[in-house]
Amino acid sequence: MAKNYYDLLGVSRDADEKQIRLAYRRLARKYHPDVNSGQDDTAERFKEVNEANEVLSNAESRKLYDRYGENWRQVQQHGRGAATSGRRAQYQGGGNPFGDVFGGGADIGSMFGNLFGAGRRGGGRQRQQRPAPLEQSVEITLDEAFKGTTRALQVTGQTVCTRCDGAGSVDGAACPECLSQGYSYQPVRGEVAIPAGVDNGSRVRVTPGGQQVVLIVQVQPHPKFQRKSADLYTEVSVPLYDVVLGTEVVVPTLTGQVALTLPPESQNGRVFRLGGQGMPKLGTPSERGTLYVTIKSELPTSLTDEERKLFEQLQGLRKDTGGQDDK
Ligand SMILES: [Zn+2]
Repeated sequence: MAKNYYDLLGVSRDADEKQIRLAYRRLARKYHPDVNSGQDDTAERFKEVNEANEVLSNAESRKLYDRYGENWRQVQQHGRGAATSGRRAQYQGGGNPFGDVFGGGADIGSMFGNLFGAGRRGGGRQRQQRPAPLEQSVEITLDEAFKGTTRALQVTGQTVCTRCDGAGSVDGAACPECLSQGYSYQPVRGEVAIPAGVDNGSRVRVTPGGQQVVLIVQVQPHPKFQRKSADLYTEVSVPLYDVVLGTEVVVPTLTGQVALTLPPESQNGRVFRLGGQGMPKLGTPSERGTLYVTIKSELPTSLTDEERKLFEQLQGLRKDTGGQDDK
């Protein structure tokens, strides 16, 4: 993280919350992967801009960042309730950058319940103060978004103090183990299920060891498919002769391949809709979007003399019949 967060957002050090929010929205739109599919450096910029915003939009983390610069996280980790193992894990008070800007991020929480095992929640007394949810980015492939996937997660979670059993005191005196808090912070590991159909900005909420964690999904660009919510877009190159004469085309899908009949004299750029071959819909994965296939006609290169002559013959024939030019 060599770059300064203020420079990344293009704001001055004394920018107010609103200026930061506006700068972030502008850049997030500019670099959002939906807009810039397949361009690696914009995906990287998108990540940087998000990171800068996450830190600067939160008064607490911004203060730490202003004071300690890029080492602020290490400083924060010595503090209470701080996160954790993931590089991007951090305290986050409020604000949902994806939800605010794009509005599409479904909040998926209770569907999964507590995948870390309910036993760790602890009952006991009322907690004095509940830590803010930790937000952590998780990057997955399009195939993983298609099938659903899991990620190992380790966070610093709250656990009930074993010395005082959550009471905060032992024999009438303050518990020396937890300093009267009733709970302590322990690393908690677990596996998080990320459901089929998630998209950029989808939020998966889990509660390992009583610590709320919100995973914000980012889906990596795919070399073959572009995605717009549940629909996928792809291109298939077909040799000129096959486009003219008609053929059967093999189209890649995320589950394999399907055959498509290309009628004779199809035009370059023709789009076929394959219903049900897109992404599964979040929450109802049996429903799937559409795969749009664009046919690209491959023009021949490095013609042999004979081929050139045949093309010239064709050209002559078209001229005689007045075919192509006067359309
Ligand atoms: Zn205790």
